[in-house]
Amino acid sequence: MAYTRAELGASLPLLTSGKVRELYEVDSKTLLFVASDRISAYDVIMKNGVPQKGQVLTLMTAFWFDYLQKQIPDLRTHFLGLNVPESVPVQAKVQLRNRSMLVRRLKIFPIEAIVRGYITGSAWSTYQKTGEVNGKKMPEGLQESQEFPEPIYTPSTKAELGQHDENISTEHAAEIVGQKYATRIEQLSLKIYSVAKEYARQQGIIIADTKFEFGLDQETEEVVLVDEVLTPDSSRFWSRQTYALGQSQDSFDKQYLRDWLTANGLKGKGGVEMSEEVVKNTSAKYAEAFEILTGKSIEAATQ
Ligand code: ATP
Ligand code: MG
Repeated sequence: MAYTRAELGASLPLLTSGKVRELYEVDSKTLLFVASDRISAYDVIMKNGVPQKGQVLTLMTAFWFDYLQKQIPDLRTHFLGLNVPESVPVQAKVQLRNRSMLVRRLKIFPIEAIVRGYITGSAWSTYQKTGEVNGKKMPEGLQESQEFPEPIYTPSTKAELGQHDENISTEHAAEIVGQKYATRIEQLSLKIYSVAKEYARQQGIIIADTKFEFGLDQETEEVVLVDEVLTPDSSRFWSRQTYALGQSQDSFDKQYLRDWLTANGLKGKGGVEMSEEVVKNTSAKYAEAFEILTGKSIEAATQ
């Protein structure tokens, strides 16, 4: 059964519920960050969920935090642990196992730090019209899905639920968060992406682009990596085996779902119930991405 929401009762106050996650308050400095099995495609959430997706997102994020911290010693993250607080009722504890993490509660910078290593999606559309990506001139003659000579940082606004994020220039990002923090966010984003991209490439996955979020530790003024990181939900993962230049690539995880929605005239409609087959295949894809990246099956990791 796919997980929708744990019955925490009055044990922890619910702060927010996003498209995929719930955030509970543990104390003034700590949050419980819970990944449900909900899935969205074309910006709408499906009625039913994808079993194990929440565990995959949580454990993959924990894997990356650990890996990144070893590679980038001055990186700070919001991760505190995978344990569930004592105050949570027993049934909810069982449901939350491997899908929640304790994190430091931080003031989140209201920008999305996007890094693109390959030209695709909205960047490809803009480049075809203007030769630019996010206001910057790009080399001529790039083909669809081609790797950029250097990864590029293209920040966007962080839209409220139901709204779309808007691309902004790095100058505009600096106006929003302040020059000092904007520079640090850009530098960290590019560093994290290049470390992760290289690791994933060796395992057989191309991380075409990804989105990070950062928060501020107000005591030390450090910029801290928060949210989920380098998951199929926050990134475009392509298979190295099927990658081909000059065309769009199948996304690693959601292609079945998107194709099925389109074929059935359901693209962009709310409250759609996915067929059993779509659920099964999507769940398998998330599990496959997990195993390729971490070297461990999700079954073994959730034992
Ligand atoms: P999407 O990921 O599809 O854009 P979303 O971001 O609205 O949707 P979720 O991913 O479901 O929603 O919820 C996660 C929310 O938690 C985000 O708004 C994120 O900024 C916030 N968040 C992440 N880490 C922290 C943290 N350490 N402290 C406070 N808020 C956090
Ligand atoms: Mg999110």
